[in-house]
Amino acid sequence: MGKVNTILGPIAAEQLGITAMHEHIGFGLPGCDLDTKWWEARPKMLEVTIDKLKHFRELGGQTIVDCTGIGTGRDISYWQVVSRVTGVNIVACTGFVSGDTVLPYFRDKSIEYLADLFYHEITVGIEGTNVKAGAIKCGVSRGGLNELDEKVYRAAARAAVATGVPILTHLSINADRQMDLFEMEGLSLDRVVIGHSDGKEGLDPARDFRIAERGAYVGYDTIGFDTEKGTPEVPAPFWARPRAERLDQVMDLFKAGYENRAIISCDANCFALGWASTEHSVAELLEVFVPELQERGVSDETVELLLVDTPAKLLTMRDPQPNLIKAAKEAVEA
Ligand SMILES: [Zn+2]
Repeated sequence: MGKVNTILGPIAAEQLGITAMHEHIGFGLPGCDLDTKWWEARPKMLEVTIDKLKHFRELGGQTIVDCTGIGTGRDISYWQVVSRVTGVNIVACTGFVSGDTVLPYFRDKSIEYLADLFYHEITVGIEGTNVKAGAIKCGVSRGGLNELDEKVYRAAARAAVATGVPILTHLSINADRQMDLFEMEGLSLDRVVIGHSDGKEGLDPARDFRIAERGAYVGYDTIGFDTEKGTPEVPAPFWARPRAERLDQVMDLFKAGYENRAIISCDANCFALGWASTEHSVAELLEVFVPELQERGVSDETVELLLVDTPAKLLTMRDPQPNLIKAAKEAVEA
């Protein structure tokens, strides 16, 4: 097997172990890192984050992919401390969560420019460091896939082809168009997770089957955002679901034999940056959700596939074709 970029350097794919494919150390809207309140909360943030990831580690968890893209709380030096203290590998993403969070500076840039930005973060480093991204994030804005989202999708696909890292998306709304865009840019859909397919927004069980049939991965990656957890102080977010309903949805895909086309994760924030989040942790994946799957008859082999084999396959950098980026750059410069 090949290599995977983590924030402490590249590791062999076999070393990933049990991996949660869509998590966050902390996500906040662009500008969150300039809020003095964030800095005030820093010691608390570190304590809570370490507790949650240590718990995940104690349960056997070894790796998380942090799907916080550029400008929404991604903080490499802080994450390195967290990774060293907890022993959890962290794979960082380049890209943007969605068009909504693309910083103004980048909004008018071309597809080629953005592809080059992502390529740089994967092959050279993030924000002046030599820490390389191991995956690319892109996503759908509120209200549906828009022109800016599409530009980021095409750039993400080009950088994925050039470097061999996978793409994880935010929201499965307009899933068919998302997949079309990737294919138009020459990216094989087995390098793509269509994320948040279990979220309440745009829920469509038939779509899960289309994603699987086209060869992409269905991201059941908002596990633990349960309607039941809402309180008067912190209501459940609008994407929350009743627990049993989510489990039914996942089991429907598995019963059809598509266990090999799914990933499971929590989209939990160890510490949400400036927004109210229900108490939620990546540990829930192993502590609650996996036992629930097993109660419904999911085998140990399938659990291993979901948590170890599929993440390793996705995260292993595959057949990089850097010449494609070079050709695009030359075309722009000419
Ligand atoms: Zn997320």
